[in-house]
Amino acid sequence: MDKEHSYNLSGRYRRHGIWFLVLLGLVLVLWQTAHWSRQLSLQSLQQQSQHQLRLFVANLQGQLEKYEFLPELLATNSLLVNFLHNPDDVQSINALNRYLETINKVANASDTYLMNAEGWTIAASNWLSERPFIGRNFAYRPYFQEAMKGKLGRYFALGSTSNRRGYYFAYPVRDQEQILGAVVMKVELLDFEASWSALKEEFVVTDPDGVIFISTNESWRYKSLQPLDSQVIRRIENSRRYGKSRIGTLDITRKDQLSDQVGVVNIGDPRKSDHLMLVQAMPEAGWQVHIFSSLGVVNSKVLGSLLVSAVLYTALVFLVFYAVQRRRRFIERARFEQRAKRILEQRVRERTADLTDANIRLLREIEEHRRTDETLRQTQDELIQAAKMAALGQMSSGINHELNQPLAAIRSYADNARALLERGRNSDASWNLQQIGELTERMARISSQLKVFSRKTSGQVTSVSLPAVIDNALKIVGPQLKDTGTELHRLLPAEELYVMADMVQLEQVLVNLISNAIHAVEKQPKRWIQIAAGVENGKAWITIHDSGQGISKENLGRIFDPFFTTKSEDRGLGLGLSISYRIVEMMRGTLTASNHRQGGALFTLKLDLAAQDGVSTPNQQLA
Ligand code: ADP
Repeated sequence: MDKEHSYNLSGRYRRHGIWFLVLLGLVLVLWQTAHWSRQLSLQSLQQQSQHQLRLFVANLQGQLEKYEFLPELLATNSLLVNFLHNPDDVQSINALNRYLETINKVANASDTYLMNAEGWTIAASNWLSERPFIGRNFAYRPYFQEAMKGKLGRYFALGSTSNRRGYYFAYPVRDQEQILGAVVMKVELLDFEASWSALKEEFVVTDPDGVIFISTNESWRYKSLQPLDSQVIRRIENSRRYGKSRIGTLDITRKDQLSDQVGVVNIGDPRKSDHLMLVQAMPEAGWQVHIFSSLGVVNSKVLGSLLVSAVLYTALVFLVFYAVQRRRRFIERARFEQRAKRILEQRVRERTADLTDANIRLLREIEEHRRTDETLRQTQDELIQAAKMAALGQMSSGINHELNQPLAAIRSYADNARALLERGRNSDASWNLQQIGELTERMARISSQLKVFSRKTSGQVTSVSLPAVIDNALKIVGPQLKDTGTELHRLLPAEELYVMADMVQLEQVLVNLISNAIHAVEKQPKRWIQIAAGVENGKAWITIHDSGQGISKENLGRIFDPFFTTKSEDRGLGLGLSISYRIVEMMRGTLTASNHRQGGALFTLKLDLAAQDGVSTPNQQLA
């Protein structure tokens, strides 16, 4: 009980252990998959973003370069130089304004204007608009200051009059070495910005202070990527670069720096997906261009790979479990078969032992039967002998008669012979002596018959002549027939008939049957017995038919039983037929009893026919 309990417990622990390992495996596989697939998708996203960023920068550069040389070209125009020398010429101011308007239109710029050395705008393409630049001073703008130093001035700022963002190119207008003023062209990048905001990535351009001034996301504009200290903010606000706009800070959290130019950041809301941030510098302009690509794609790719690997892992686990289960079942079945085989072998052994026992018992029984049989045979032989003796007893009166008669005759023949010899009648005496000789011969024959009958036999079956045996039997019962006045009818075939039998025993059977017939006809008015023989279906048959009353139906089935008799004690023992039946059976013959159609009992004896050679006749036997 305890052992079973502990077995169950250890089994449960083992099962828990396996499940724990499976789960641990799942966690490891998922973790590894997440790591790899994130790495791969990040790489691919980075490449894609890099490509987009390059395109963006190239596009922006292209946009700006288109205008870069135009102010320089304009500065060479004598119209501008002359007008700077002679600003009060009303005629030429109109012409100049128109000229600048045309150029501006053709170049598709936002504004084109001319400033004098003090920073006052003296001619402008928007001379006819509501708020023309003419008469306004932009001396504080760095692009003007740069131009006045003889260089190409570039600057991005919010237009102080127009309040629109633009990129300014300024170039000095010279007369010989003297810088008279500057020609300025403002380019708006609204269209450029709009065209890029259609993409899912966000693009941002920051100034050297890190403030965003171009952004595909409008809400990020004028915000710095890093928090700026108040001095810097004040400086920017004083420069009026971004007009009256307040400089804020973009809510950006740096989460991972993959390289100098690449990092992972979260913008605004930590619950939203992070962004991959790439940076590329535009050194001529002093700008930094940033691209922000959402990691949502990466996340969904990672999620997809996780799902696939989870499914594959589960399938693998099931496969392994299935294989293990199958193997276990196979082993169990093999064990079961082995056990069944063992049990079967055990049973076979037991059954064999049983059978051996039974066999030994059977052999013992057979041995016992054999012994019983032997005893029985012995008893039967003794019975046969007893029956013979009984028959002899019964026959003794007849024998007495048979022997006394010749004895009396011998005595008288002897007396006669003596008297004749005394008288000298030798020849007559000799006749009498001859008669004596014949009579003793006859007596010797009778005694030899009785000897044969009473003799114990070997039970050997040989070929014997049937008529000879019948004759011998008749000789034995002859006196009985004579005494009872019974007629005997013999219907025997003319030719010899040999059967397989023990001669003495067959004689005994015939004597029994004839004796019974004599008894049966004793009290009948007509007393006869018919003895017949012949061959049918390869067998020899002998019938004994009498003129008695036959056998009643109820007795017919019992007459062969030992000691069944209808006779008085001194006449019958009830052994004759049972012994005869047994003798015939031993000779492989049959003995049956029935009633003849015309009345009287009919006993039929059937025996095997014998081959003709090696034949022994009763006489030879006797001799
Ligand atoms: P037993 O002659 O000593 O009685 P058997 O075995 O020879 O013993 O015969 C058994 C019985 O069979 C006889 O008692 C008799 O009733 C019957 N039986 C035998 N032979 C004849 C016969 N020829 N006719 C009528 N009955 C017979």
